[in-house]
Amino acid sequence: MTAISVLRIEGLRAAVGGKEILRGIDLEVRSGETHAVMGPNGSGKSTLAHVLMGRPGYEVLAGSVTIDGEELLGRPVDERARAGLFLAFQYPIEVPGVPLAEALREALAASGRRTVDLEEEMAGEAARVGLVASLLDRPLNVDLSGGEKKRNETLQLAILRPRFAVLDELDSGLDVDALRQVARRVEAASNEAEPGLGVIAITHYTRLLEELAPDVVHVMSAGRIVRTGGPELAAELEASGYAVYREAGPDEPEALPAEGDPFADPLA
Ligand code: ADP
Ligand code: MG
Repeated sequence: MTAISVLRIEGLRAAVGGKEILRGIDLEVRSGETHAVMGPNGSGKSTLAHVLMGRPGYEVLAGSVTIDGEELLGRPVDERARAGLFLAFQYPIEVPGVPLAEALREALAASGRRTVDLEEEMAGEAARVGLVASLLDRPLNVDLSGGEKKRNETLQLAILRPRFAVLDELDSGLDVDALRQVARRVEAASNEAEPGLGVIAITHYTRLLEELAPDVVHVMSAGRIVRTGGPELAAELEASGYAVYREAGPDEPEALPAEGDPFADPLA
């Protein structure tokens, strides 16, 4: 049995386009835990994901992000991945011209893991997340639909078995069946492996959380976590919306889709 790992975000402040968006985030996730991060549009959820993954253009102003005490901020993406953070290849790492199997083989080899059964394992995982097997032969990032990208990302997660994953709107662009398949696969990674995957699941909607059961739910507003609770908090948000949280922010532009349609593009 492998030891429990801890992803710890402390006092994280970050700016994008010269504007401070994250204004002091504290969050601690352990192996096997699923934390949902919810909140109105523009509250900084995606910014948090991008900063954790080291996407260029995001300026860290203060704070730290560690896995088992090892600092991730300021480190290149491949080092963050080696430290145990999941980074789907389609984003932010783009490897045009390289088939998925190649990229996975390299990533596994870099962390000293065997890859002899990789093709077989990929076929099994593709079936599990409903990805058409012929898509596996395409170069990364080429001509996948939104839903196929999400399934592909989930397959990568299953094979790479990182310690922690940050999943930003895993539910966007997926129909109900696809959502169930990918959410169940992530849930299995969290529950069945030893130690389980630690998950930060960023989502607007509780539908994802029906299959990917959160242990903890956080509400973000104007760059801060303003409330933390158990799974019941997600149900409360579903019922009451984010209006009360939106008021907390001085300059949050967008509103939720009026009908609460889980498949509407919130920015459309
Ligand atoms: P969420 O994912 O919660 O909807 P985001 O993290 O995408 O929120 O956005 C938070 C805020 O940061 C918004 O006000 C958005 O307009 C702003 N923002 C995001 N990306 C950029 C950027 N590249 N340049 C300037 N402002 C940005
Ligand atoms: Mg977002």
